Amino acid sequence: MTPVLLVLNAGSSSLKFQVFTLGDSEEPQRLFRGLFEGLRGAPHLRIRDRTGTTVADEDFGSDGAFGHEDALLHVAAWMRAHSGGFDLVAVGHRIVHGGMTYCEPVRVTAEVLEALERLVPLAPLHQPHNLEPIRIFRRRFPDLPQVACFDTAFHAGQPEIARLFALPHAMIEGGVRRYGFHGLSYAYIASVLAEYDPALAAGRVVVAHLGNGASLCALNRGASVATTMGFSALDGLPMGTRCGSLDAGIVFYMLREMKLGPAEAERMLYTQSGLLGVSGISNDMRTLRRVAAREPDARRAIDLFVYRIGRELGSLVAALGGIDALIFTAGIGENDAATRAEVLRGAAWAGFELDDAANASGGPRVTRGPGPTAWVIPTDEELMIARGTRAVLSRPRSSRPQPAL
Ligand code: ADP
Repeated sequence: MTPVLLVLNAGSSSLKFQVFTLGDSEEPQRLFRGLFEGLRGAPHLRIRDRTGTTVADEDFGSDGAFGHEDALLHVAAWMRAHSGGFDLVAVGHRIVHGGMTYCEPVRVTAEVLEALERLVPLAPLHQPHNLEPIRIFRRRFPDLPQVACFDTAFHAGQPEIARLFALPHAMIEGGVRRYGFHGLSYAYIASVLAEYDPALAAGRVVVAHLGNGASLCALNRGASVATTMGFSALDGLPMGTRCGSLDAGIVFYMLREMKLGPAEAERMLYTQSGLLGVSGISNDMRTLRRVAAREPDARRAIDLFVYRIGRELGSLVAALGGIDALIFTAGIGENDAATRAEVLRGAAWAGFELDDAANASGGPRVTRGPGPTAWVIPTDEELMIARGTRAVLSRPRSSRPQPAL
């Protein structure tokens, strides 16, 4: 029996999971990647092995009855039944918000879970879904160690000035400050910079995590010193469906003049804005690129996305006092050569010189010349969760976990 870790990333209607081996010394090795989509609708599960071969491809009816708990139990049963069998020794969870308390991965206890539930108002559209599988596993498999890994933790060491809002003192002390997100992605990128070029690990680098959620992070010698997301995952760049930075006056306008309730306003800013809102067509960059030549609103949404990346990049270059490299990662950053080209052309002022051929073929280096460099580096948030979970399990005070499934 192989001891394995289950890594979970739970959303409102989806459950991404990966299975890693848990060797004693070496890096966790990925065995499977799975995705449940359409939970509480018409769920579909696909699992691929490490070669990319599909090993499970199933539908679960369309009566809306099959939810997160069913999905988790199905994954557990699948792991138990799979040839050779696995000892599931722990579960690592992606948790969007760790607040001011949790600056590194932590083993989940009743007290930790309660503290994470108190952070729901800070990430209302993500945190509840992240926490639900923890509760389910605690109920179903109470002896199974669970570890929470936080998207905020990587930014905890930022200088205080970078984390402050100019708000009344009591609000700041009450926790209304910049936390920053996508930290698991940035931590992974920071951990591999030296493999691409040792100078990157020692330099001033901006990482552009451009996926459905999008943010930029300034790294100085691999440490986060500033980032575009703030108190919530709504700040900074426009995203697939989120608005990004917004004049706070607009929120009062929505409440007072448009007569929206807080929940409605929140839904509009989180789920009906960004690329989807501006284009009126799609939140998906592939779709927008396909129709941009004939749909001016799609072109406008892309142009705004690129323009805002340029503006925020300038701000982070100022925070770093210069820039040695720009890294593109996540769905758009890794795959959309056109976005990379547009961003780099707009950043020619900083000395970036696009290498068209290298960019078209995906890099890794996509610039030439003596100026700052730009790179495409695939992110791996799940591996960071596996690493974090393993580190917590191997802390001396914790006893060796027993197989629980
Ligand atoms: P999430 O934040 O949900 O993990 P991803 O990192 O998977 O998101 O990024 C999703 C975004 O990446 C979508 O806008 C999608 O259109 C875009 N994307 C993925 N592949 C490509 C591609 N080949 N070309 C352009 N955009 C792409």
